[in-house]
Amino acid sequence: MSRSRAFIGLGSNLEEPELQLLRAFDELDALPDTRLVARSSLYRSAPLGYLDQPDFVNAVAAIDTGLTPRQLLETLLALEHRHGRVRDFLNGPRTLDLDILLYDGLTLHEPGLTLPHPRIQDRAFVLLPLLEIAPDCVVPGHGPATGLLYNCEDQRLEKLPAAACEPDVV
Ligand code: ADP
Ligand code: MG
Repeated sequence: MSRSRAFIGLGSNLEEPELQLLRAFDELDALPDTRLVARSSLYRSAPLGYLDQPDFVNAVAAIDTGLTPRQLLETLLALEHRHGRVRDFLNGPRTLDLDILLYDGLTLHEPGLTLPHPRIQDRAFVLLPLLEIAPDCVVPGHGPATGLLYNCEDQRLEKLPAAACEPDVV
């Protein structure tokens, strides 16, 4: 059966963020009709928007999946829920955030689902890990991801040195 390549943005700043993300990589690999094909290093980033909260740990995963974009979104929201995520307010602290960044070259504007993810181009914590595993990545509507980094030069981001989170490249 044909599968699509999707990139998932992961973030956490509560309850052992590194472990939340490492667990989530395995859980992505275990989703129905889905295989994890690459994962970036883990990065530490300063919060954006609401500043009075712990730093985030972020990463990006590439998956091949037979799930439709809507099925994938629902599956990821359920996974967030299993990690104990409570939605308090926009940009607030969270145990696990899973965003569909890209799904093949698809552009989609539906209630509750926008593709590509609408804030990729503004976030160093998305662009750097994405480029680490997909250096030639193109964001529909915005062009090559490499050209988007200039938007976020002021954002603090630090790659975490950990043997457990060496990147793969697709
Ligand atoms: P954020 O990730 O921007 O901090 P949330 O995780 O609280 O915000 O997501 C809010 C809503 O964003 C979700 O309920 C989901 O329906 C919607 N959404 C729209 N497009 C996407 C996408 N590409 N990936 C994930 N969620 C999305
Ligand atoms: Mg989200």
